[in-house]
Amino acid sequence: MTQPDPRTTTVTVRVPAKVNVQLAVGGRRPDGFHDLANVFLAVGLYDSVSATPADSPRLTASGPDTARIPLDDTNLAARAARLLAERHGLEPRVHLHIAKDIPVAGGMAGGSADAAGALLACDTLWGTRTPHDELLALCAELGSDVPFSLAGGAALGRGRGERLTPLATGGVFHWVFAVADGGLSTPDVYRECDRLREAAGLGATQDSVPEPEPDEQLLGALRAGDSAALAATLRNDLQPAAVSLRPALADTLEAGTAAGALAAVVSGSGPTCAFLVKDPETATRTAQALLASGTCRTARPTTGPAPGATVV
Ligand code: ATP
Repeated sequence: MTQPDPRTTTVTVRVPAKVNVQLAVGGRRPDGFHDLANVFLAVGLYDSVSATPADSPRLTASGPDTARIPLDDTNLAARAARLLAERHGLEPRVHLHIAKDIPVAGGMAGGSADAAGALLACDTLWGTRTPHDELLALCAELGSDVPFSLAGGAALGRGRGERLTPLATGGVFHWVFAVADGGLSTPDVYRECDRLREAAGLGATQDSVPEPEPDEQLLGALRAGDSAALAATLRNDLQPAAVSLRPALADTLEAGTAAGALAAVVSGSGPTCAFLVKDPETATRTAQALLASGTCRTARPTTGPAPGATVV
């Protein structure tokens, strides 16, 4: 059998987006971050990251939103390749190509997905065989959501979301994602969350906000694969802040609920809105109604849990 030529071989990794089915946000810590109880579910919208040997580092991207991602050293995929190369004493001589389908700055961890994808693609291309635990640790250095992008499935994230415990899921959940025009900056949304808490007289620091805890009923609903029970427990503490910064999101949430969704929630820091529905037919109908309502740019039916970063 002929061996592939290592100079021309390309490794492609597919990585899922995520929705937070529970995002409980604690008080602001002295370092400015917030402790979270973050229940992640990977869903079937994917970016693909391809790694090909090159004489010097190169990054390209394709997809409708690529004008909104940096194609320089600050791109999370490029940072991931550099970090892995450094760890193994290599030069990051790689051409990374991101085929982008996850909404940019949409609260679905698109940048984190690309970082996890680049790590796995380069590790495979370079034959560095980094143990899974070390890959997860590298992911955590790159960003709080990156370990989950590598792992996929469902997981509870503690700390800033990077300390993961995998969660069992008892079935497939059907979703529709309403993608907005433009993004929201995650730091801006956390700042607005603190501002709203202070304005309500609750205080925004760790002394005044209760420690975030996972909701046992929600974890039970995931375990049972029970959509109605999950719908009753979906919760995102960043939602009021995202809606305060982008009031039109209230109309999107309302349009999906009116179309028959079991529940509606802003995805992470938004502005993508997530609708949990009971079956694929309702997903198609809800997506059509959301598009017709004119309250979003696109509406994408899909399912979760989805597998984590995978070499294809
Ligand atoms: P999260 O849900 O993790 O808070 P997000 O989905 O809201 O993140 P991203 O799509 O990850 O947002 O983009 C956040 C910022 O990161 C944007 O300003 C974007 O320009 C920048 N960025 C850097 N690298 C990438 C990348 N590979 N893909 C997308 N955005 C990137």
